[in-house]
Amino acid sequence: MKQTLTAGLDRLGLSLADETLDRLVAFGEAVVEKNRVMNLTAITEPERVAELHLLDSLTLLRVLPLAGKSLLDVGTGAGFPGVPLKLAEPTLRLTLLDSLQKRMHWLEAEALPALGLEARFLTGRAEDFAAAHRERFDVVTSRAVARLNLLCELCLPYVHLGGYFLAMKAATASEELEEAQKAIRLLGGSFERTEQFEIGGQTHCVIVIHKTAHTPPQYPRSWSRIKQKPL
Ligand code: SAM
Repeated sequence: MKQTLTAGLDRLGLSLADETLDRLVAFGEAVVEKNRVMNLTAITEPERVAELHLLDSLTLLRVLPLAGKSLLDVGTGAGFPGVPLKLAEPTLRLTLLDSLQKRMHWLEAEALPALGLEARFLTGRAEDFAAAHRERFDVVTSRAVARLNLLCELCLPYVHLGGYFLAMKAATASEELEEAQKAIRLLGGSFERTEQFEIGGQTHCVIVIHKTAHTPPQYPRSWSRIKQKPL
């Protein structure tokens, strides 16, 4: 895992301290280990975990400076991209959000304490927490949670004015972006750019959305409304 990670970081033009690489690998190994008894990921081969989970998460270091920022990871699952980012940038003020209680419990009670990492944990649905944490975060990230037009309604309400929503997407990014134009505008966002990275032989995209206006108070709606009537 460490070799694959080091080579991949080199290709991305990123360099991390040896101790940080060891901690990233320890987290990757903990995910693989826990996956034997709890469904965390379909990717279990160590080199693939290094590329498709650790390295892919770390691409966000190339997109925005994250030092000292508050970051919310919506639908974090087994902690991606939030945990690798916190390991690489310890000054990040990390909040992890997911509706799956078992995964969140593992992160909060086992995985992060084992790494000596601090974070906040919101266990529940993104659309339900928005009222209490509205426009509080510098950066909101999300990977593999929903199509962009739906995801914007889950994520943009959390971003404060001037902050960013970073949506991690695969090859469908431009199609999803087209479909999400109206949602981005209505929710106070403004598409800034798409960044592309070659990860594990595939093109991965990060869609960068700047928060340029407040999100109107009627958003987010309930999940059933979001799905039935996407913006
Ligand atoms: N982001 C992680 C990754 O890339 O490995 C996990 C991706 S997993 C496919 C999707 C995760 O999003 C699941 O853990 C699921 O519980 C969570 N999720 C989906 N919709 C959500 C919502 N509305 N609020 C909170 N979590 C949600």
